[in-house]
Amino acid sequence: MERRDRNARAGRKRKKASPLLHTSSFTPHPSSFTLQPFFRVGLGSDVHRLVRGRKLILGGVKIPFEKGPLGHSDGDSLAHAITDALLGAAALGDIGRHFPDTSPRWHNASSLIFLREARRLAAGRGFSIVNVDATVELERPKLRAFIPRMQRKLAAALGIKPGQVSVKAKSGEGMDAVGLGLAVRAEAIAMVMTCEAALAACGPHVEFRQQ
Ligand code: MG
Repeated sequence: MERRDRNARAGRKRKKASPLLHTSSFTPHPSSFTLQPFFRVGLGSDVHRLVRGRKLILGGVKIPFEKGPLGHSDGDSLAHAITDALLGAAALGDIGRHFPDTSPRWHNASSLIFLREARRLAAGRGFSIVNVDATVELERPKLRAFIPRMQRKLAAALGIKPGQVSVKAKSGEGMDAVGLGLAVRAEAIAMVMTCEAALAACGPHVEFRQQ
């Protein structure tokens, strides 16, 4: 005996299916077509060859080591990756577009300048930084002891709190250019929010600092 017949014999009424269960009846609210994205993310990566006679600077922190990154600026891979992530979140192009390695202005420059400028450019588009997460890959030396200082330096350049900046360190496990001690590499992601998002979260009395 089929279930329908059994239910009819038992005097049970068929349940009316909820319209929510039918995807064909779903109609998006008109506002979903007009809302601007409140939050955006950007991705950045950077790699530099390690050579003798160069200072090793990561996240604005000088690290004692016999080699450093070959580059036009100070070669701070961590700062470069974060700069690209922030520019990417604001759809402002990449680090080479704003700070070309052919310009004498950036020769041996501190890469924290790039971060400050990227923050200023993103703020000009109405974006505030929510958080940054980054990973540095380096075979030697170990970076753990330097990470809190990196967070403070990066946060100061970005105009945010150290708690909004995450820095992680990894080795190359003896493989590829990083693992062989030939290069330093960094990856970063940055999240930004629009002023509208801050207003929605904090109400009309939220203050916007000039970045
Ligand atoms: Mg670079």
